[in-house]
Order: sequence, then structure tokens, then C-alpha cells
Amino acid sequence: MLQLCRDCILNENWEVVEPHILAVHKQVRNLVDLPSKPPKADDMDAKLRCNLCINECVLSKNDLSYCGLRNIPKSQSGELPLPSRSRGYIHGYLDRIPTNCCNAWFCNAEYDTYSYAAFLYGCSYNCLSCQNSSHKLFSKKHLFDAEFLAKQIVKNKKITCLCYFGGTPEVQLPFSINLAGLIIEKIEKQDKKRKFRICWEFNGSGRQDLVEKCMRLAIKTGGNIKFDLKTFNEKLNIALCGVSNSKTLENFKYLAEIFFNTRGKYMPEMSACTLMVPGYTNHKEVELIARFISEINPEIPYSLLVFHGDYKMKDLPITPKKQATKCLEIAKKYLKNVHLGNKFLLGFS
Ligand code: SF4
Ligand code: SF4
Ligand code: SF4
Repeated sequence: MLQLCRDCILNENWEVVEPHILAVHKQVRNLVDLPSKPPKADDMDAKLRCNLCINECVLSKNDLSYCGLRNIPKSQSGELPLPSRSRGYIHGYLDRIPTNCCNAWFCNAEYDTYSYAAFLYGCSYNCLSCQNSSHKLFSKKHLFDAEFLAKQIVKNKKITCLCYFGGTPEVQLPFSINLAGLIIEKIEKQDKKRKFRICWEFNGSGRQDLVEKCMRLAIKTGGNIKFDLKTFNEKLNIALCGVSNSKTLENFKYLAEIFFNTRGKYMPEMSACTLMVPGYTNHKEVELIARFISEINPEIPYSLLVFHGDYKMKDLPITPKKQATKCLEIAKKYLKNVHLGNKFLLGFS
């Protein structure tokens, strides 16, 4: 799809390479009617400024945001653009524990209870190999009221945790934080002894103060946060995901330095994971990511995920065993807690 190899992306003249990369992403986004880049209306035309994620969209009256969730209501009747703090685009379902959520490999949630899997629409990235591209099926999205949803979730005593994923939760952080707060409030009123963990799986590109709120809620409830560290090299992130990873790395470092290991060794507050995209996220990239994490704290759990072709990168093979083994070996040189996810794709149980 990209028609560029890792070496070209990293070493060729960026002024030549970047326009090609942006043209590929534009083509992909056109297929689902999303803008090719974050709208940046000038001051005269600006009707809505959003700073929930790295894209910092500034919308004029006919613009659609990069995540596809925000535009200016046609009526102009003063109603707030949606989604908001109290209403969000979410699809929820029950997932029996142990689940396949990204941090299940070290989490100590109670087996045979349920996780509420909270799939949030929209994303701040445009990964060509997106493994959850249904977040762009906006015609299927429904707006749910946080108060209503919180009551429904709390009513079911078999639910012991909530996992936000998507898409990426960053583009609806006010909603997901509010919903989490309402759930905690209701549980504290009804049954102080009930355990209910809140977890986030995200790409990390959100506004720092909100990302920190997520961390505090996760810690308070015994939950955790998983960061998708897709790459270390910014150019490679732009090539594979359409957007810079600068905010992601900054947020990861910020949270890990303050919060990691604050509640004891056996309940990690956060983790990172990397999808090993054949030819792109190879052992050299994994080494850079693992070193970055280890310089913050070598105990931070790190999961390497075996890739399978998806979305616009269906032509790529499953991560070769040789690549997976090499990445694993290198990551273990730097980090104490490394895991291989999606092993079944390699024929391992
Ligand atoms: S507590 Fe968090 S990590 Fe554990 S199963 Fe639930 S959502 Fe997944
Ligand atoms: S961050 Fe995740 S959901 Fe968003 S485009 Fe990338 S793979 Fe898809
Ligand atoms: S959350 Fe959406 S609207 Fe807001 S800055 Fe990010 S991409 Fe733009």
C-alpha cells in the first residue's frame, strides 16, 4: 500500500517522501469521507476549536474533524457539538474474563466475571493496518447517555471491570472520564466492597491533563492503562499512522515517571505494546522503543503483538517467526517483563 520501505521512509529526503505518504493517507481517508488532514481554519472562519488530541482541529462551518466525530451543527441553535461529556458514541458488550484485552496477561481480575468492553468510535490516527477499522463506520454509531449507561452497567453485579478501547478513547475522553466517574460514584453509594476496575487502551495522543485523569481513575479502581507505542521514529509513525507520535511518547513518559510502581509490584499501573508490522516495525524499531521504556523504568510491562494483514495492509504477511523471535530477544535485553501477544498466529499456544 505504502510502496515505500522502512529504509526509504527513514533515510531518503523527507521533502520527497512525506508528500507521497500524505497522498496515500489522503486516498485511504477519502474512501470513508474523512478529511485528509486535521482542519485548521483561520481565526476569521473558526467556529470550533478542539484540543482533545494531538490534531488540535480548528473547524470552520463546513469542516469535519480529523477523527470524524465533530462538525458544526447545521442549525446553529446553540446546541453543543457532539459527542460531549454526557453523551458519547459507544458500542458496549460483555466479555467473559479472562478476556483478550491487552493487559489481561498480567491483570488479576476475577475469572468468570465480566468485563464491559466499551468500544468508542473515532480515532486520532489513521493506521493503514488498523485492526479495529469499524470505528470509522459512523453510520452505525449511536449516541448513548452516560448516566443511563452507568446505571445499566452498575446494575449487573457480574461486571467487575470496564475496558475502554476503539478507535481510540482520546477523541471522546470527556465522555469516557465522566462515565467512569459516574460508575464509581454509584458503586461507592451502593456497595463499598464491590470491586470495579476501569482500564483504558489507547494510542496515547490525548491532551495531557485528561490522560492523567484516566490514569488516576485507573489507579484508584485497581485498573490500568495500555499505550500503543506503534513506533519510536516519528517519520515511521507518520508513514504507518498518518500522524506524529510525539504526544504519545511525551504522555507515556510523563505518566510512567509519576505513576508507575506507586501501588506495589504486582499491579502494574500501565503497560506498552507494539504491533510487529513486517518490514516496518522490525527489531531495530523494537530496540528503540524498549530502550525508551527502560530508561523510564525497566519493570514496565511490554507486549509485542504478532501482526496479521488488516484494513489497507492486507497484502502484508503475518509477522515472520524469525522477526518475532528477534524482537522478543532484543526487548528482553532492556525490559524485565516482556510478553508475546497473538501467539496463535505463529502456531504457538
Ligand atoms: S481489569 Fe482491565 S486488564 Fe483486567 S480484564 Fe478487566 S479490562 Fe482487562
Ligand atoms: S490507533 Fe488503533 S484504532 Fe486508531 S487507526 Fe490506529 S490501529 Fe486503528
Ligand atoms: S479529538 Fe477529534 S476533533 Fe478533537 S482534536 Fe482530535 S481529531 Fe480533532
